[in-house]
Amino acid sequence: MANPFSLEGKVVLVTGANTGLGQAVAVALAEAGADIAAAGRSAPTETQGLVEAAGRRFLSIKADFGSIEPVQRVVDETVAAFGKVDILVNNAGIIRRADSIEFSEADWDAVMDTNLKVVFFLTQAFAKQVIKQGGDPASIGKIINIASLLSFQGGIRVPSYTASKSGLAGLTKILANEWASKGINVNAIAPGYFDTNNTEALRNDADRNASILARIPAGRWGQPGDLGGAAVFLASRAADYVQGITLPVDGGWLAR
Ligand code: NAP
Repeated sequence: MANPFSLEGKVVLVTGANTGLGQAVAVALAEAGADIAAAGRSAPTETQGLVEAAGRRFLSIKADFGSIEPVQRVVDETVAAFGKVDILVNNAGIIRRADSIEFSEADWDAVMDTNLKVVFFLTQAFAKQVIKQGGDPASIGKIINIASLLSFQGGIRVPSYTASKSGLAGLTKILANEWASKGINVNAIAPGYFDTNNTEALRNDADRNASILARIPAGRWGQPGDLGGAAVFLASRAADYVQGITLPVDGGWLAR
């Protein structure tokens, strides 16, 4: 039997793959056999080297996901280079920290736009493309949204981030409801506390760092590579009947 986790011959579009979790997911999917189109603001030079070292093709697409302006172009450039697209990973995201009592409209809008609005319209453009491509009706496309523990919990001093990531879990479900019958799987991964730029402020705060570590049953911060297995699974045919979930990869945080 063919390996159900193999991504041989698949094309992945991943946002924000120059660093952190996006880079780790891109590399894991490449190691499972997929070619990678990486869309984002910063040059993904390091990621390109890692993907090519895995023997896969790599395309860099310049795009600022602060607005929906680039979404159609990003899908079109992927298809122009690789002939098709099969898997979308919505990873690019931002966080702004301030007390809710004084949180600004600018910090609300920036986070909601990048983490939720742009994700919706990029996902819509991707879904139109895979429907147009057709193929095996049981499996024409896979979408993986990078959610958060704040898709489940409230958090503190991050109101727009919590709203966006809770919204993303809901979006994952509604799109699964609408598109499962079309052969498109829509799921999310909720990373716990991972060692990336996004969480640098927390690690630099000795008290927060200690209280976070004390609550993680695994007893350590997640390393970006810890996300790879879940991403490969949700991108693969092994997940053909998995729909609308937000899968925690959190060292046990939510079980606590
Ligand atoms: P990161 O190192 O800060 O990476 C964020 C990525 O998003 C970068 O590639 C960044 O590109 C990109 N991005 C941000 N705004 C963008 C824009 N306007 N246009 C294009 N790209 C943009 O953080 P990370 O931890 O890897 O975060 C990746 C995802 O995981 C995010 O959605 C985050 O919310 C989520 N997450 C992280 C954790 C964690 O513990 N680290 C936990 C839960 C969820 P630039 O380098 O150009 O800014």
